[in-house]
Amino acid sequence: AAPRFVIVGGGPGGATAAKYLKRYAPAAEVTLIEANPTYTTCFMSNEVLGGLRDFSTIQVGYDGLSGHGITVIHDLVTAIDPEGKTVTTQGGESVAFDRCIVAPGIDFKYDAVEGYSAEAAEIMPHAWKAGPQTTLLRSQLEAMEDGGTVIVAPPDNPFRCPPGPYERISLIANYLKQHKPKSKVLVLDAKDKFSKMPLFTQAWEMFYGYGTDNSLIEWVSKSDGGTVTGVNTETMEVTTAGAGTFKGDVVNLIPPQSAGAIARSTGLLEGGDWAPVNKGTFESLAVPGIHVLGDASIAAAMPKSGASANSQAKATAASALALSMGQEPPMPTLANACYSIGGPEHGFSVAAVYNYDDFENKLVPVEGAGGVSPIDAGADSRRREMFYAHSWFENMKADCWG
Ligand code: FAD
Repeated sequence: AAPRFVIVGGGPGGATAAKYLKRYAPAAEVTLIEANPTYTTCFMSNEVLGGLRDFSTIQVGYDGLSGHGITVIHDLVTAIDPEGKTVTTQGGESVAFDRCIVAPGIDFKYDAVEGYSAEAAEIMPHAWKAGPQTTLLRSQLEAMEDGGTVIVAPPDNPFRCPPGPYERISLIANYLKQHKPKSKVLVLDAKDKFSKMPLFTQAWEMFYGYGTDNSLIEWVSKSDGGTVTGVNTETMEVTTAGAGTFKGDVVNLIPPQSAGAIARSTGLLEGGDWAPVNKGTFESLAVPGIHVLGDASIAAAMPKSGASANSQAKATAASALALSMGQEPPMPTLANACYSIGGPEHGFSVAAVYNYDDFENKLVPVEGAGGVSPIDAGADSRRREMFYAHSWFENMKADCWG
């Protein structure tokens, strides 16, 4: 009989896995179960926050996947039974599988910050799952008076999209510079270093006066006590571990994260926050027959990115298919490329290619096959990388959901 696959979650990880399974094995029965009828990409949502892009451009539907013969069900998966090999949904569906691929993305560890919760996020949005949170934060930025303070609080590692908070800081500063120049962005960070830090600080110096008395951006590191420990949504105050208490007109609190809840309830996390996997096949180390990929998995040295999820999904589709037929899974080569926009027509990137070391269960960057944009590149190169970023975005939407 044709193998049956159920994919839980229709983000870049799950959508790509479904599409490529059907492409590799047209006879396979592929069912994708996704809670929402529309997916809103986090990638490029910072451009929406900065007023550079329309919200509608970060939304995609699932008709493309249905058109490839994938059964798409919009429902919340409430249980995965690894022994009975069935997935159950809130709406009462039960779907049988030979192999299940779980790509539920992240959930928030609200308890990590005193006073923060799903309700508090309606006042101090995280906007770390794109959608209504993105439009909420955007409308708060638009409503803020000139002279206001926007607090952005990034979490400690590991979290979804390591350069994401710093692109966001850049594009909020860019918006303030144009529309509310007496305002500022106060960054209260739980880290001393961050992704592409020299490139971001260079952009901040070029465009936002970073390091001067008139800087639009102030960054308080972990060593300076910047880690946020509590919030008060009534007074709009944010308390830090050692830098004091600050009042924000807009507060973007990005809490620590873990794998999506269904990964925990299925027993895929082994007591941690993320799912340990065989990094060659993305099969769970805790529950055989179930693969976990994208943000929910431990796939270091790959970062938690949409590009990583897309690459992992293709490898997972190939290995899940091979394993379902009792064959040896192929050895994958994986890739990640993350673009960031630091200012007007100012893009830069980090990229890497990874080989799988099956002895150590490690993903090892291939020497000379990646790198970071040069710090001394000129305006032409930065402008070109902005175009690359935008075309990467269109290609991603087409590859995952098209
Ligand atoms: P998700 O995209 O979170 O998808 C998971 C899906 O599963 C969701 O649609 C959810 O509804 C569904 N789901 C969860 N649980 C269930 C359930 N029980 N039943 C049914 N459905 C369920 N990455 C890049 O590569 N480049 C970038 O430029 C970039 N920029 C970013 C900017 C920001 C501000 C942020 C926050 C992130 C950015 N990322 C970027 C990271 C990227 O968005 C994530 O790494 C990526 O979305 C992870 O994909 P995923 O498929 O693992 O999870």
